[in-house]
This record gives sequence, structure tokens and C-alpha cells, in this order.
Amino acid sequence: MATLDGLPPLRDVIQRHGLDAKKALGQNFLLDLNLTQKIARSAGPLDGVTVFEVGPGPGGLTRAILSLGAKKVIAVERDSRCLPALAEIGKHYPGRLEVIEGDALKTDFSALAPEGPVKIIANLPYNVGTQLLINWLLPENGQWPPFWESLTLMFQKEVGLRIVADEDDDHYGRLGVLAGWRTDAHMVFDVPPQAFTPPPKVTSTVVHLIPRTNPLPCEVAKLERVTQAAFGQRRKMLRQSLKPVGGEALLVKAGIDPARRAETLSVEEFVRLANSL
Ligand code: SAM
Repeated sequence: MATLDGLPPLRDVIQRHGLDAKKALGQNFLLDLNLTQKIARSAGPLDGVTVFEVGPGPGGLTRAILSLGAKKVIAVERDSRCLPALAEIGKHYPGRLEVIEGDALKTDFSALAPEGPVKIIANLPYNVGTQLLINWLLPENGQWPPFWESLTLMFQKEVGLRIVADEDDDHYGRLGVLAGWRTDAHMVFDVPPQAFTPPPKVTSTVVHLIPRTNPLPCEVAKLERVTQAAFGQRRKMLRQSLKPVGGEALLVKAGIDPARRAETLSVEEFVRLANSL
């Protein structure tokens, strides 16, 4: 059966290359090219854009990104079994797909970034998704604005809710503060378990993040220290949970009521606390 892009259906690709999903690699594949196009489209226009993709697997999302006109896709995949299937896609789009076999957690994406606009689009493996997001939000080289124009990422819905959460939301925590400090983040749409092969236990969601050009000035390490202490004991009053980093004196210096709890503090207030350390 023909597909939108003239390549074979993903089910055939998976069968032909023996790509039975491995749980340890977080492999839940998307086989519906209409859905992968919908995900890629939520990254906005791709003309002239280089896209980094993590975990292309059999290439459903990769194909969508290329068919929507991305200049190039640089994809990092840990499972060598996927490489022959991805090579077929590369042949169909000559010079536009570079596959790097390796661990995305150990990949220096900024060093690989070419001149010109870069976006990151991925259906992330669940076991490493949050850490990858943190690496992109808080790059070791301190570069901000970052090398990427946007992140369009699929997470478990629970993680997506934590990324976009504001204060007074049950899902608000360290991830919400860090994402809210450096980006404008929102959820785009949910994807039900049945859309994946094999289906995961939970609903997934696509999150879109755009970097703030001028986030409130703050040292990353200090913000991490205060959020870690505050949310480490989120039900306690801040005068108690922040004891290891200065307790009541720190709160008074920052002009924050010591009787409040972590989940009630806005990003701006966390930044004030960090800057008072
Ligand atoms: N993009 C494909 C799709 O949407 O159907 C596959 C997504 S699947 C959820 C996650 C992919 O990430 C798998 O192909 C898996 O082999 C790969 N992967 C897992 N851990 C990885 C890592 N540390 N670095 C790079 N790729 C990884």
C-alpha cells in the first residue's frame, strides 16, 4: 500500500528489519504518518530549519519532519538495529538525513548545531526524556539563548503537566520552575496509548517550549539549590524546608513570608530567593 511520502508503510519496515520493540530502550513506536505529521507540524514552519531528533527508531517522525520540508534532520539513535531502516529514508531524501548512532544523553548537541535555525523534535524514550529536557534547559556551557529555536517533545502526560505547571498547581515543582524560568512552555495535544506500538500504560502528550530571550537574571546552581530544598519537602512551610540553604533569614531577605509552602511561590519569587543566597 502506498504512503503519503512514497516510502513503505512503517509496519512493513518494522517487520522487514525485525524491529521488535525493546522496553529497556523506551521503544513505543508511532506508525501513523498522519499523527507524526501532526506532531512535526506543531513545531511550526520547518523550511530551512535543521532538526535534531532523538530516537528516530523506524523513522515515522523522521519521515514526517523531512516531508514537511526541513533542510536536514540530524537524528541520534542508540539502537543499531534501526540504522538500515533509517538508511532507506536517507536514500529517499538525499543529503537531508544524518544518523548518529549513540546515546543522546552523552551527545553534545550544541557542538553539532550548524549555522541557521535549529529546532528539536522528538518522541522521547520515557526513561531519559526528563534528563534530556534539563540538559537543553540548563546547558553546561551556560549558553542562553540556546542553539535551538524551539523544543517539540513527546512525554508521558504526567511529565508534560509538570513541565507546564505554574504555582498553586499540584504538578508544580522543580521542573515547572526551571522550564518556566527559561521558556514559554505549553501542552499541544494528547496522544492515547493505542497510537503506539506497543501501547504504553499511560497517555502521552506533546509539549512545545520556546526559549525566553531574557529570562530573569539568576545563577542556575543557586536556583537548583533553592528549588531542590523547597520541593524536597513540599508540604512543609518554607522556613522548615529551606533550613539547609538559609531558612527564615533567607526568606526575610527575599521578602517572602516564611509560613508559605513551595508550591505557592512563583518563578519570579524562586529567582528572588536564589539571588538572595
Ligand atoms: N521516533 C520513533 C517513533 O516516534 O516511533 C521512536 C520513538 S521511541 C519512544 C524512543 C526511541 O529512542 C527508540 O528508537 C529508542 O531506541 C531510542 N532511544 C532510547 N534511549 C536512547 C538514548 N539514550 N539515546 C538515543 N536514542 C535512544
